[in-house]
Amino acid sequence: MELSVIIPIYNEEANIYELYRRLLSVLEPMALPGSFELIFINDGSRDQSLPLLLNLVARDQRVRYIDLSRNFGHQIAVTAGIDRAAGEAVVIIDADLQDPPELIPLLYQKMNAGFEVVYAKRRSRRGESAAKKLTARLFYRLLANITQISIPVDTGDFRIISRKVVEGLRQMPEQNKFIRGQISWIGYRQTFIEYDRAERVGGETGYTYRKMIRLALDGITAFSDVPLKIATISGFIVSGIAFLVAIYTLYSRFISHDYEPGWPSLMLSILFMGGVQLISIGIIGEYLARLSANVRQRPLYLISDTNITAEPQPSR
Ligand code: UDP
Ligand code: MG
Repeated sequence: MELSVIIPIYNEEANIYELYRRLLSVLEPMALPGSFELIFINDGSRDQSLPLLLNLVARDQRVRYIDLSRNFGHQIAVTAGIDRAAGEAVVIIDADLQDPPELIPLLYQKMNAGFEVVYAKRRSRRGESAAKKLTARLFYRLLANITQISIPVDTGDFRIISRKVVEGLRQMPEQNKFIRGQISWIGYRQTFIEYDRAERVGGETGYTYRKMIRLALDGITAFSDVPLKIATISGFIVSGIAFLVAIYTLYSRFISHDYEPGWPSLMLSILFMGGVQLISIGIIGEYLARLSANVRQRPLYLISDTNITAEPQPSR
């Protein structure tokens, strides 16, 4: 098997056939040295996605599907595909055609020129709200600044990875997946190509703000300890300020005697201290929650049905 294409599916009934058609019209002329497979992971869709997939499976033996038992989220759906991909090279692509399949030959070519990872970097993104673009932009820059490894800015999961990288991912047992960060962490020779991100062809985004925030927190907590350090440092700063205020209070009470009993300053410092403490506890909580998720050692996902017979090589 030369190439596996991993496609997570969450309510994509409007896009599946069009995606399949465009993938084939790109992959067939590529004259790959081996065969290819399309792995669709149905991540608990509530629409007609699954019957459409089963239809493709019946027609075309290159189509594989994994039907997860419920909606586990994009990153876990992709991981389920990676666990069962048989290809020497693996492409990860969105189902909504925002990532143009026509770039796959270029990704493949570039990989064969001596790279283990070729990711696709967005030069522009169309048809997305200004708020989404701005938050994405800020998030990628923040992440780049507080992590040790260099996670490329403005890239999603659209990329090609080699067998070596797939093996690397399978050795990473974390529950809170942030695949683009994990791939940066793995290393080897990586490069990118640039493209203009299209609009979603049909349907609507499966990424609610809630899911986006969770992904952002997963990325930050998995690859950076800076927030914990900020909590410590702000603790020191606030204690420092409190100490100075204490000295000033004693001075005005006993030496200068211009002492007004007043609650605004008291109130202010209590509120300020309380705020810093709550934020710090919250930050610790974010890490602790992920720690406990990993300690529980639950399976990352459950499969209700699949036509892939090979033994999985799960990431845990
Ligand atoms: N997706 C998924 N599970 C989810 C949400 C999304 O498998 O819970 C899939 C979705 O079908 C698509 C890809 O992940 O193939 C990217 O999602 P989407 O296009 O909704 O995200 P956006 O492009 O808006 O960031
Ligand atoms: Mg999309």
